[in-house]
Amino acid sequence: MPARVKTARRFIVGANWKCHGRMTSARAYAKALGDAALPRDVDVYIAPSLLHLHALRDGMPEEVEIAAQNFWDGGDGAYTGETSGDMLREAGATRVIVGHSERRTLFGETDDDVRMKACRALEDGLSVSLCVGENAGVRSEGGAVEFCIKQLEAVMPYVPESKWRDVVVVYEPLWAIGTGIAAEPKKVQEMHAAIRDWFAARTSVARAAKMRITYGGSVNEQNCQSLAQLEDVDGFLVGNASLSASSFIGICKGSSVAARKCAAA
Ligand code: PEP
Repeated sequence: MPARVKTARRFIVGANWKCHGRMTSARAYAKALGDAALPRDVDVYIAPSLLHLHALRDGMPEEVEIAAQNFWDGGDGAYTGETSGDMLREAGATRVIVGHSERRTLFGETDDDVRMKACRALEDGLSVSLCVGENAGVRSEGGAVEFCIKQLEAVMPYVPESKWRDVVVVYEPLWAIGTGIAAEPKKVQEMHAAIRDWFAARTSVARAAKMRITYGGSVNEQNCQSLAQLEDVDGFLVGNASLSASSFIGICKGSSVAARKCAAA
């Protein structure tokens, strides 16, 4: 069935540095990635703090995307403390993470906020990594899939289909983020398949087969290869393990087609 033809999709692996890093470490990281011979069949993006965006763009190999962790969806104007999409693009960002659970839980972002940010980012010419994910309580009550689909439904129907290719979905269960223990592969595959099925029901199986659905939550060099084998996993968003250039490079390498074939053999 075409929705399950994984070879149709390039892997994409992102680094979410959150509120970490200094200018010197950002520059050293860029150099390490430049020296690393990253796999050509994996798209890579790095989301540093806003302050480090520009320096990172300057030092980073061209093929590595620079992403923002947040942005302001109102454009330029009298918005003290905010950063518009145009400013981000000028600083070299081509992507923005929206809907991260830390933005939702710590900074009160609602589904409506996430929708407005995603739609405006796409209008401003940025790609979007759209995060969805349930907390432990929702999971234990058996409502995880419905919860994440609701978060998806709050955004995707408002995104023109011509822009869907610019959206990467990131499934990040809150109970796995930052714990050092990734979600069990069965749970990850079940959620990713449900997300893909939602796209298929909304458009077509062939269109859904092209959507990239990535996983985040304690991905590291050790577990990335088994997660990468899953039928509906098309890459990762990495937090803690992305703070070290060598472990992030290891995850990128472990996500290459060759590494995935080798691990499957
Ligand atoms: C994240 O918060 O986006 C994340 C994936 O974090 P970690 O890898 O540390 O769980």
